[in-house]
Amino acid sequence: MRVEKRIDKPTPPIRVAILGSTGSIGTQTLDIARMHPERIDIVAITAGANVGLLEEQAAEFSPECVSIGAKGGAASLSNHFSCPVFDGSDGLVRAATWLNLDVVVVALVGAVGLKPTIAAVKTGSRIALANKETLVVAGDLIQELASQHGAEIIPVDSEHSAIYQCLLGEREEFVSRLILTASGGPFRKRSLESFGSITREEAMAHPNWEMGSKITIDSATMMNKGLEVIEARWLFDLPPEKIDVVIHPQSIVHSMVEFVDGSSKAQLGPPDMKVPIQFALSYPERWKSDHEVLDWSETRSLDFEAPDLRKYPSLGLAFEALRQGGAVPAILNAANEIAVDRFLKGDLEFIAITRLVEEVLSQVTDSFEDSFEDRVRADQVARKIAKELGAPTSH
Ligand code: MG
Repeated sequence: MRVEKRIDKPTPPIRVAILGSTGSIGTQTLDIARMHPERIDIVAITAGANVGLLEEQAAEFSPECVSIGAKGGAASLSNHFSCPVFDGSDGLVRAATWLNLDVVVVALVGAVGLKPTIAAVKTGSRIALANKETLVVAGDLIQELASQHGAEIIPVDSEHSAIYQCLLGEREEFVSRLILTASGGPFRKRSLESFGSITREEAMAHPNWEMGSKITIDSATMMNKGLEVIEARWLFDLPPEKIDVVIHPQSIVHSMVEFVDGSSKAQLGPPDMKVPIQFALSYPERWKSDHEVLDWSETRSLDFEAPDLRKYPSLGLAFEALRQGGAVPAILNAANEIAVDRFLKGDLEFIAITRLVEEVLSQVTDSFEDSFEDRVRADQVARKIAKELGAPTSH
């Protein structure tokens, strides 16, 4: 077999919107746009509260529109930008459905990503999805909508990008298992007995990845991996029994796919989110870049171990939520967002994060239909309970 040789004619740059351009994934997407100005045209950017950085980005990339988080905030900011300024949830939808978009990068954190993602899917644009909550809350419904509208969802999350790449050219019937790798976070070697004294600073110190605070805490509890299992279930349309998690502290193997003949494929690289972000933009092409590559002349070892579910009970909760299906993952996700927020504010102990999520799951007794409206309602019900419950102490 020969590697395909082809010389492409120059193509016009792709028109890209970035929802959440001032966050970790958003700013790295702009780094890629800087690296490939002839390939990428940034036409819409949005920020939550960091208006100063959004202004700098707009001055550099001259987008056709911007949007800010605070509802009603656009009016007072219109003289700061030389393009239309939108705001609030409607502003995100305007940016996500801006004229002739090729790719919408959804780099928002939390369930706020759902509405603009639905809007973007309906236009048939490619979605470069970094917002895992969207698939956790409504992956079944989003995928159905995407196939109706011919929208392609390419994951930005490093594990899912790895699996996506391993599955290229393969048939679903030959896949026996997806294996998501997890770094194990900062507490992999910490004894279970001392989990009660974990501080906010310790939880924020992730060994391999630089990320926003919510996802860093989710990595420490491994809820992040739990949410990624749910995400994988919908992205790749495989049942939970065919999805596994393995701890791989070096974060070099980003994930693996095992096939029925006993062969496995893995995707490897240094821990750098720019690679999966760029892949989501360039696919089916690969663009030459100056990202760091692995140096195989350097001695290195790759370790793997099974996760300890007593240390990481959130992983078990996530698998159980996925098995129950319907709105249960949405409840899990909403409760977790509030629990992490309460932990970051000093209102919850580290080990109480997962306990609070568990309590919320047992307290929500409403029944929900399989509609976007009801998923949003489930999210709201769970948030309310998660805010009102007293901090769980002992189990
Ligand atoms: Mg990940």
